[in-house]
Amino acid sequence: MASVSLTIPAKLPGFDVRRIRRDFPILHASAHGKPLVYLDNGATTQKPQVVLDRLARYYESENANIHRGVYLLSQTATLAYEEARRTIAAFINAPGAAEVIFTRGTTEAVNLVASSFGRANFKPGHQIIVSAMEHHSNIVPWQIIAQATGGVLRVIPMNDAGELLLDEYAKLLKQPTCFVSVVHASNSLGTINDVRTITRMAHEVGAKVLVDGAQWVAHHPTDVRQIDCDFYAFSGHKLYGPTGIGVLWGRRELLDAMPPYQGGGDMIESVTFEKTTYAQLPNKFEAGTPHIAGAVGLAAAIEYVQSVGFENLVPHEESLLNYATQQLGDVPGVRIIGTAKQKGCVLSFVIDDPPISSLDIGNRLDREGVAVRTGHHCCQPVMVRMGINSTARASLAMYNTREDVDALVAAVKLTIHERSAKRHSAPAASPAMSTLKFPPAVADSPATAADQLAEELRDVSDALGGRDAINTHIEEMGEHLLPMPEALKNESTRVHGCMSVVHLFPRIRPGTVDVFEFLGSSDAFIVRGLIAVLQRIYSGQKASAVLDFDIENFFQRIGLDQFISSQRRNGLAGMIKRIRSSAGAMVAASA
Ligand code: PLP
Repeated sequence: MASVSLTIPAKLPGFDVRRIRRDFPILHASAHGKPLVYLDNGATTQKPQVVLDRLARYYESENANIHRGVYLLSQTATLAYEEARRTIAAFINAPGAAEVIFTRGTTEAVNLVASSFGRANFKPGHQIIVSAMEHHSNIVPWQIIAQATGGVLRVIPMNDAGELLLDEYAKLLKQPTCFVSVVHASNSLGTINDVRTITRMAHEVGAKVLVDGAQWVAHHPTDVRQIDCDFYAFSGHKLYGPTGIGVLWGRRELLDAMPPYQGGGDMIESVTFEKTTYAQLPNKFEAGTPHIAGAVGLAAAIEYVQSVGFENLVPHEESLLNYATQQLGDVPGVRIIGTAKQKGCVLSFVIDDPPISSLDIGNRLDREGVAVRTGHHCCQPVMVRMGINSTARASLAMYNTREDVDALVAAVKLTIHERSAKRHSAPAASPAMSTLKFPPAVADSPATAADQLAEELRDVSDALGGRDAINTHIEEMGEHLLPMPEALKNESTRVHGCMSVVHLFPRIRPGTVDVFEFLGSSDAFIVRGLIAVLQRIYSGQKASAVLDFDIENFFQRIGLDQFISSQRRNGLAGMIKRIRSSAGAMVAASA
């Protein structure tokens, strides 16, 4: 990739990143014995001490339920909560605080609009337009409401750099359109969209617009009046605030006309069994006890960001993104995904040479203390559009430094170096179908095989020390996986729902009626290891014994949850489901 600006300043006047880092206690933690390098800010940001203190102070001296008590403490909590609303309204330049609705996050904000505005206003055959780079939380709610109302979901396409094609959008808008929902800054590609123009174009045809600001608000000033959109959504936890709190801003006249999203306490004016009337904004959309501490903590986070000043943090983050793009882009074998001219703090990449799955990249980086996100980033359509399965993603925040970027780049180089060495010693090519070999049984039942494996893992853990040693041992088991012919890697053997590309090929052993065996493959080392674990337990066993064995219990026994993520557990669950359904079919066929 082309190098960017040659004059990237290392230090910016008016911004002392060392001082900022001192405000975030967790940044001084370590991971696997190395200093933590936290580069997963797109997933969630860390919290400054002032936010932690504010949360503690709220619970220590202000906690009561809001809006309900006549007593002083309840009034104190109500004041703090409503003051937080005003802080947030000012932060996004909203015309009024009553238009700021507290939600659990961006996801709930989008669902609120889709459900309430959508049900009341969408018409059969009319379009709901999203873009090709949306997070699933800005796709699925619209699909659900499109199904319910007869609406039609349409997509603004993008080019190979990850920039929306506004000419195509203009063409889409020629059909009747009721709504456009688009991301301000993409979490998977980093693209910053021209939401002002997108909004203007939608308004010209009478459509309303929601902007998903989840990845924007922590990095740039937000002005909903300048964008002129109808709804704006974001999450507190990506803005240095607590989890479980988010914001929906909406135009007052639209919110006033919308039906409630949920029913319950605090959103009513009066209730009888015959009829309920609803409270005014914002309460109409805040049924039940809200996340009071979250709102108060979010306001503290916003005040913290304001005390640093966007005029300081924007140049710092831009300079860091340029540096990271240059350094990572110059590593041979690395390809950056998402090269839009207008980009935010996200650096998605794949390693093509040698090919390394993003899962393996993430795992290896983790052992160097570098925390990045791997997978599809809840943007599966983006991965399909870019012709890839997943990426590794480093996402920056104001407290990141050039040293963090250097640690990332060094860990990526190490990953490539190690894999290149392994590649040169790896056995060549996939076998022909005529020379297929399947793993034999290693014990007389799945239960005995599992007991032996549990003991082996315990020995490894005792000898070499815990979680990392087990991880490495399982990866090494994957290195001895019997190879699967390319001809068998097709859609019928593909196991979906995994973070890597997984194929399983089960069969009844020729010459028997009930011996189950299977081959498996994956582009990720750790998943190959998990396939090897499953083969040790299941392959070569009677199909009925495969069905009878309680593998969940075995995983609990070896403490599998401690060293695999829930995403990978879903992948593992997908593999087990495939194995069990094949074994079930074999049992049924032999009955
Ligand atoms: N939209 C974008 C662009 C995101 O990056 C995310 C989270 O990563 C979301 C929406 C969903 O945010 P939350 O999970 O906080 O609701």
